[in-house]
Amino acid sequence: MLDNRPDLPAEIARRRTFAIISHPDAGKTTLTEKFLLFGGAIQMAGQVRAKGEARRTRSDFMQMEKDRGISVSASAMSFDFEKYRFNLVDTPGHSDFSEDTYRTLTAVDAAIMVIDGAKGVESQTQKLFEVCRMRDLPILTFCNKMDREARDTFEIIDEIQENLAIDVTPASWPIGQGREFLGCYDILHDRLELMDRADRNRVGESLKINGLDDPKLADHIPADMLATLREELEMARELLPAYDREQVLNGSMTPIWFGSAINSFGVRELMAGMAEFGPEPQPLTTDKRQVSPEETKVTGFVFKVQANMDPKHRDRVAFVRLASGHFLRGMKLTHVRSGKPMAITNPVLFLASDRELTEEAWAGDIMGIPNHGQLRIGDTLTEGELIRFTGIPSFAPELLQSVRAGDPMKAKHLEKALMQFAEEGAAKVFKPMIGSGFIVGVVGALQFEVLASRIELEYGLPVRFGPSQFTSARWISGSKAAVDAVVEANKGHIATDHDGDMVYLTRLQWDIDRIQRDHPEARLTATKEMM
Ligand code: GDP
Repeated sequence: MLDNRPDLPAEIARRRTFAIISHPDAGKTTLTEKFLLFGGAIQMAGQVRAKGEARRTRSDFMQMEKDRGISVSASAMSFDFEKYRFNLVDTPGHSDFSEDTYRTLTAVDAAIMVIDGAKGVESQTQKLFEVCRMRDLPILTFCNKMDREARDTFEIIDEIQENLAIDVTPASWPIGQGREFLGCYDILHDRLELMDRADRNRVGESLKINGLDDPKLADHIPADMLATLREELEMARELLPAYDREQVLNGSMTPIWFGSAINSFGVRELMAGMAEFGPEPQPLTTDKRQVSPEETKVTGFVFKVQANMDPKHRDRVAFVRLASGHFLRGMKLTHVRSGKPMAITNPVLFLASDRELTEEAWAGDIMGIPNHGQLRIGDTLTEGELIRFTGIPSFAPELLQSVRAGDPMKAKHLEKALMQFAEEGAAKVFKPMIGSGFIVGVVGALQFEVLASRIELEYGLPVRFGPSQFTSARWISGSKAAVDAVVEANKGHIATDHDGDMVYLTRLQWDIDRIQRDHPEARLTATKEMM
């Protein structure tokens, strides 16, 4: 189905840029690993984790990540699958990092939702799904762990339809489950896929079948299970909607595959599904116009900044989603926020857990640009046109704490560390107009711990977080006169964020309402678009 956009250059049309969303423990890491394995990016499953662990032992921060079993930082991985180029953007799984996840989802064209066949739709799946829904992202579903006791197939599908209000169409149908799990019937291609239990990294047999009456079926499936399969498939045909490409692409229908990531089962079919049904790079919105991927001029935006990826070099990598064009190494792009040109001389693509210098990239790709802090989340890069990609929000933090350096002489160092984390999007940092110290805002409590350990580790600064007199932050916007009037009348509540924008801090919703009443020409908002 490469030609549903015949006007797209082939290099762009073959790209699939997507994220995997799931509740912790559903099997996202295992599935990612198998994707890399079948994509030829790694030779052996277990490598990604093994490498991760070798790195992790180098730092307490990573140790903490390991102890908690959560993935704190996101990254991007590129690999080929058949004639396609997959760009898989990893999302942090823990709910404390939802803001990061949200931004990641602005950089992809589709998502794979992994659910545990025994647990169904869990809380974090639901939340992430809602985010995808807001952007009408196409979603493919993988029901994992079918080698364990799972729920009844119809029950799983019903639960997804009801909880997520999306039509579900089976792309495959499981034959047995738990110990009895044999494999799946591939509904879309009339194939029998059998699981190989002996070797977890091998793909089992795949047999072309001529419909459900094909006598070949009986050679591989015991009679009672075959009868059940026929019966269930008949019911499925009657009760469940048939696959509809348009609906999948507009996000109102999700095809579901059943499998077992750890046994490599169902993974190839899912990948083929992403290749076949997943959308090619989509047009993206800017403040002035839509940008189409096939436009010849290069444009892109920063959706993530990761600092200190390599503790030995204090570098930062800005993750850029290319929205259009064909990028070549050495190109000079305009950094729209500052209006300055930037020569991109050392762009990297992320192949498995190594990064590699790249000579080129196409619309849809995720490119890393090492830099010293010029690139921030939300920044747009173009070949000169002054447009800004929109839609990457910055949420008001839900938790605020004050922070001081253990050693007061180190206040400047602390400021530097905090500003860097603010630019990375790891926290909001507010500098009050009156008084000393900083107020740090996060979305989830665990982020305070992560910050404290990173500041200590990366900057050698012991810090203390403590209670803050404020609980809410609102950005003040409007004309300069309007903002000044609010600031003038509320000095004890005013702070600046890392961009120098004015923020109103308070404990009381009542205060916020009062300011809106007193200063109708100013606006207090809980989000600020980061561009
Ligand atoms: P994540 O938290 O979503 O990244 O989940 P992981 O990939 O780390 O998997 C969580 C646990 O489930 C691990 O112990 C995996 O070995 C296990 N697991 C993953 N896939 C399967 C599967 O298909 N079957 C079974 N039985 N276990 C699985």
